[in-house]
Amino acid sequence: MDKQAVIDMEQQYVLGVYGRAPFVLARGEGSTLYDSEGRAYIDCVAGIAVNALGYHDSGIQQAIYEALGSGLLHVSNLYHTEPHAQLARFLCETSFADRVHFCNSGAEATEGAFKFARRYARAHGGDEKVEILAFTNAFHGRTMGALAATPRPKYQDPFKPLMPGVRFAEFNNLESARAQMDDKVCAIIVEPVQGEGGVHVATPEFLAGLRHLAGNYGALLIYDEVQCGVGRTGSLWAYQGYGSAGDGADFAPDILTAAKPLAGGLPIGAILMRQKVADALHKGDHGSTFAGGPLVTHVAQHVVWRIAQPEFLAAVEAKGKLLRELLEEINSPHIREIRSKGLIAGIELDLEAARVIEQGYARGLLLVNAGPNVLRLIPPLVISEQEIRQVAAGIEEILQTL
Ligand SMILES: *Cc1c(COP(=O)(O)O)cnc(C)c1O
Repeated sequence: MDKQAVIDMEQQYVLGVYGRAPFVLARGEGSTLYDSEGRAYIDCVAGIAVNALGYHDSGIQQAIYEALGSGLLHVSNLYHTEPHAQLARFLCETSFADRVHFCNSGAEATEGAFKFARRYARAHGGDEKVEILAFTNAFHGRTMGALAATPRPKYQDPFKPLMPGVRFAEFNNLESARAQMDDKVCAIIVEPVQGEGGVHVATPEFLAGLRHLAGNYGALLIYDEVQCGVGRTGSLWAYQGYGSAGDGADFAPDILTAAKPLAGGLPIGAILMRQKVADALHKGDHGSTFAGGPLVTHVAQHVVWRIAQPEFLAAVEAKGKLLRELLEEINSPHIREIRSKGLIAGIELDLEAARVIEQGYARGLLLVNAGPNVLRLIPPLVISEQEIRQVAAGIEEILQTL
């Protein structure tokens, strides 16, 4: 089908909530996407931090074929399956967690985490302990509960009333968090690296302080690692990149949410938790029809196992350093600040990021923003050094024309 025909059909029949690029994607290979007219784009978006192993990955394809071989795309959570159990075990063995609950997306993981936190507080006598502390520039999803903890008027205002019981403090400001804390707070939710909100990296002092604060008030600490988890920052879980022990032990949360890259492009979410949280939840308290099906969990196991290899994570860290160095070498008056950790980088500009993104399309470069003025780079974790150099050169050229 002709490109314009596809775009016209989509515009006639599909709800117009997305602004889409002016081409039709047709295929992918590694970190490169091709449109229907054969034009190549180096992908620094990765399906919004989803396609960690890039496109056309032979290991993922093989995992899909293996799973198909059983004939089970889906079975209900009324029944046991091996991939479901194996993935849960692997996630626990590679993190602070004792138990896992699967869901289908990041927003659903946020919803589950909030429900579990309230359930836990009630189980410990806190009938009034229902409030959630979240932070400025946070993004936790677009369903009603998650949206209430995502303080952007553009996302929230048209859909009010929101879920009550959410309060906010300033990100990376421990005093501000302290001022908002009291016995009514059942959970603190924070992204160790904020993604959509502009790529802001939590300081070790901030996370350690929240860890203490939550403990002091008997509240649960929730890390939203939907975007920064699963290798993105150079450690399997972002919190593991904090602290001297190299495993983030002192920074470990009570609940951690994961989703985007977890199954390499198939939809899945996961809520990791400590035993004490699991102990507060009982049969029938929560659930989902699709969650943790045998196909998606088998593929996720393959993806997480690959990313958890020390050599893979070391490569992410090295490529993140290279990307950071190259971005810092860009000589442009439009750059206000560069923020990054591993392979998530934000370039704060003095102009609309959309202008750079549009120029990128013409130059074979896919970029995304994080707020109006921040250009966000979240490429596949398998991007090569050569491609990183091309990306940095492309951004520099674009900024020189603006
Ligand atoms: C994308 C994102 C979500 C929401 O995930 P969906 O799968 O789009 O619902 C939640 N939290 C963070 C940090 C995210 O980046």
